[in-house]
Amino acid sequence: MRRRRFLGLAAAAPLALAPAVRAAAKPARVVVVGGGYAGATAARYLRGLNPGIEVVLVESGAAYATCPLSNLVIGGFRTLESITVGYRGLAAAGVRVVKDRALAVDAAARRVRLERGDPIAFDRAIVAAGVDFMWSELPGLKDAAAREAVPHAWKAGAQTAVLRRQLESMPDGGTFVISIPEAPLRCPPGPYERACQAAAYFRKEKPRSRVVILDANEDVLSKGALFKRAWKELYDGLIDYRPDSRAIDVDVATRTVKLDFGDVKGDVLNVIPPMRAGEVAAPFITANGRWCEVDWLTYESKAAPRVHVLGDSLQIAPLMPKSATMANAQAKACAYAVAALLAGRAPDPAPVLLNACYSWLSPTEVAHVASVHKYDPAERTMKPVPGAGGLSPARSAAEAADAAAWERAIRADTWG
Ligand SMILES: Cc1cc2nc3c(=O)[nH]c(=O)nc-3n(C[C@H](O)[C@H](O)[C@H](O)COP(=O)(O)OP(=O)(O)OC[C@H]3O[C@@H](n4cnc5c(N)ncnc54)[C@H](O)[C@@H]3O)c2cc1C
Repeated sequence: MRRRRFLGLAAAAPLALAPAVRAAAKPARVVVVGGGYAGATAARYLRGLNPGIEVVLVESGAAYATCPLSNLVIGGFRTLESITVGYRGLAAAGVRVVKDRALAVDAAARRVRLERGDPIAFDRAIVAAGVDFMWSELPGLKDAAAREAVPHAWKAGAQTAVLRRQLESMPDGGTFVISIPEAPLRCPPGPYERACQAAAYFRKEKPRSRVVILDANEDVLSKGALFKRAWKELYDGLIDYRPDSRAIDVDVATRTVKLDFGDVKGDVLNVIPPMRAGEVAAPFITANGRWCEVDWLTYESKAAPRVHVLGDSLQIAPLMPKSATMANAQAKACAYAVAALLAGRAPDPAPVLLNACYSWLSPTEVAHVASVHKYDPAERTMKPVPGAGGLSPARSAAEAADAAAWERAIRADTWG
């Protein structure tokens, strides 16, 4: 009960501050690139904080397929339509939604160049482009046909449907191989949840089949004990977990994942490549050639003034996951900071972010992990608050109801 009340208050806080900001704001234009959890939330909250700010959202897709619950689509327990949202709610909130691909965010000229439309000038830009994949790490997947044959399904949508079809076509007795890259990756528990959903499908429809998890990491990245217990209790003999197994290439013709040592063949391959900040965020990448560093009070890029970066593109603070909940929370803090900066005010000096992440260990049972992250002024980073948050003691059907409610709430909070 306490946890749920805290989540609700945290989500409501930024809008409660609206009147103070609204009074002092001057007209300005903010262009948001990317309408996922981070960008759509930032756009909607910015308009809510100050309707005097013109907010333009540039998004390449006509609709957005949400990743949470996409593993249930792969298992056959949800439909793709049920996890897809449109942008009408944002338009109704006064956001100008432009369906186009941003080619570049030009910080010096303060404009966003588009693939089809005219460039859009901005006072501030918010870049929330999610992740893109480091295909050079897997030479066998360099062309489009190979990527269709071996889907990552790590951006929900067309690839989710491809992977589902491949599992449906797989004969009973077949092997489904999931390959996990080294952390950091978007949604650390996601691949293990996917193994559970595939195994639940096999148990019901193809009981002689099995799942092989090739993990580049030395152990399960999140909720390890809960996943291992579920694999034993629900899917014994069906899931073969192999840590320290990094994919270095894929042979599509022979359906083989090549590892540092040895090869693994499968009937259906799901290779999740290493990832980095979305392509359009490339000029703002400052960490390891992969991620964007920001000032955690404002989300302003360390590489360019007046450009803010959010969500999965970020170089994470200690123990901060790349998740939808976190992207949504960062976006609210960023919207408040941008509204304040445009009004000539200082941003909140002590932001607190909350993360909650549910995993479906079966089609009906769920477990969660939660954490609270607070700004540390001495180190100018976000740090987990000791003793806050927690982990489910066991999977349960009660938490499945919580997880479904969380999904509905964050969807409404993000896209309206
Ligand atoms: C299988 C799976 C399960 C998951 N489950 C959960 C979960 O249960 N809970 C949870 O909290 N998180 C979960 N996540 C993680 C969550 O989906 C991501 O952390 C979240 O989507 C990050 O939001 P984002 O806005 O940073 O990026 P995205 O949601 O990827 O949004 C980026 C958007 O930018 C757009 N875009 C990119 N480039 C351009 C461009 N140049 N021009 C225009 N538009 C552009 C894209 O089309 C996209 O709409 C899961 C992820 C996966 C893969």
